[in-house]
Amino acid sequence: MKLGAFVIVLVAFSACSKHPVADKVVLGKIWTGNPEQQWAEGMAIVGDSIVEVGNAQEVEKWVGPETEKITTADGNLIVPGFIDCHVHFVEGGFALSSVQLRDARTPDEFIRRIAAYAQTVAKGTWITSGDWDHENWGGTLPTREWIDSITVDHPVWINRLDGHMSLANTAALKLAGVTNSVKDVDGGTIVRDKKGNVTGVFKDNAMTLINKAVPEPSDEQEDKALEAAMSYVAARGVTSVHNMSGYEDTFERAHGRGTLRTRIYSGMSLPQWKELAEKIKSKGRGDNWLRRGNLKDFVDGSLGSHTAAFFKPFDDTPRDSGFFVTKPSILYHNIKSADSAGLQVMVHAIGDKAIHELLDIFEQVEKENGERDRRFRIEHAQHIAPADIKRFAQLKVIPSMQPYHAIDDGRWAEKVIGHERSMTTYAFKSLIDANANLAFGSDWFVAPPTPLEGIYAAVTRRTLDEKNPEGWIPEQKITVEDALRSYTIRAAYASFEEAIKGSLERGKLADFVVLEKDITTLPTAEIRNVSVLMTYVGGKSIFKK
Ligand SMILES: [Zn+2]
Repeated sequence: MKLGAFVIVLVAFSACSKHPVADKVVLGKIWTGNPEQQWAEGMAIVGDSIVEVGNAQEVEKWVGPETEKITTADGNLIVPGFIDCHVHFVEGGFALSSVQLRDARTPDEFIRRIAAYAQTVAKGTWITSGDWDHENWGGTLPTREWIDSITVDHPVWINRLDGHMSLANTAALKLAGVTNSVKDVDGGTIVRDKKGNVTGVFKDNAMTLINKAVPEPSDEQEDKALEAAMSYVAARGVTSVHNMSGYEDTFERAHGRGTLRTRIYSGMSLPQWKELAEKIKSKGRGDNWLRRGNLKDFVDGSLGSHTAAFFKPFDDTPRDSGFFVTKPSILYHNIKSADSAGLQVMVHAIGDKAIHELLDIFEQVEKENGERDRRFRIEHAQHIAPADIKRFAQLKVIPSMQPYHAIDDGRWAEKVIGHERSMTTYAFKSLIDANANLAFGSDWFVAPPTPLEGIYAAVTRRTLDEKNPEGWIPEQKITVEDALRSYTIRAAYASFEEAIKGSLERGKLADFVVLEKDITTLPTAEIRNVSVLMTYVGGKSIFKK
């Protein structure tokens, strides 16, 4: 792509022996993300690539009669297209059209919304997604009894917003063949009442008991969900996403039709490493739109579900310190094999013990497989033992984190892990100071795929309940420019694509966003209210406000 653009430029140059002409020029204040030229006044674009970044006069030279001029207003800021390093993209698209429970503040509201939504879908249709949060009403888990009478005609299987537990109603239990005598599942929890009866909440691996009864979506439904997801993130300035396993066929269908508007880095789950290795052998790693090559797995669960693995017990449930959902010996074996096949491994680890164990495995595999540019990633990396922070840079392991989770979990995390462990929770500043390549994302559907909210979260650490106006664990706040880098150039590095995107420089893809305000000078508390005015991918407009 890069080469193509320069060939066109050369041809244009030699044909008329004047200055070559751009298809588009963009004028305005630019934060380029390139440390050699941090600020610019404009850029010129030929095809899908940037051919010039510089001051207004340098860019004007590229203007010909056919050149489209994109002018921005005083006070706007142009930044590289945001890269979201952690999404469940198609699931996010599905969630957009399902019942919305994220901001249900009371059990009554929760029940009322499910009842209203059930009225809108055909009898017998499963109601899924939901993204409820029991912390909104003090932490009491919902039960199937809350919703059975209003959902008699619909099986319900709705997840907590972290995706680590879900609630089934009685109709869903029946279809899944789950009764009160169901046996416990390794790496999961079946919540039971005092009498031992199943309440309807299933955590982590126990969720498979119900998952297997939910009908697979059709290709057409998946295509629609992907379309919805692409539009939704374009309006938030996102031009690339790293998808956490699955839906490869859906992405390939869209790519084949030429309808991708978001660049996607896709992959499979780690145990499928052989399948992915073979696919790459026959089809290659893809192109600038759809790149394959990552493998995702889990060490533990989540903090909100009390299933993240810690060295010491939780403060609010002193006999419990979480658990591993995958045995370390199995993880080690799969990571070593996948790494030998040249694939990138990214593993979810949240509790300090899970992160420590995973760093040990990565270290071991590197020792055995030898030096290579492998870029192992730890997804979430939420609660790091202080001694492990420097190991990220030492072992060149990428912390792939989601700042929005910090201002969400920050409301109640100290109740669960106490103050001391909170000090290195979402340790953005410590990781940057220790030279780790901190990459940011959202974890959508779990959290909103809105980079400006993520940047706001990383720089203010103001929890969603507004109880920490100076920031929750303010020592870990970072600067706006550092947060921008984590959503752009460091995020591009996390998928081996820093040579083609992540900053606005000559030869890179013309993926950029126009923001309503200059977030580098704005009071940080206002960043979350800033609008995205325009989003361009490969020089093409995909969103305009
Ligand atoms: Zn996730």
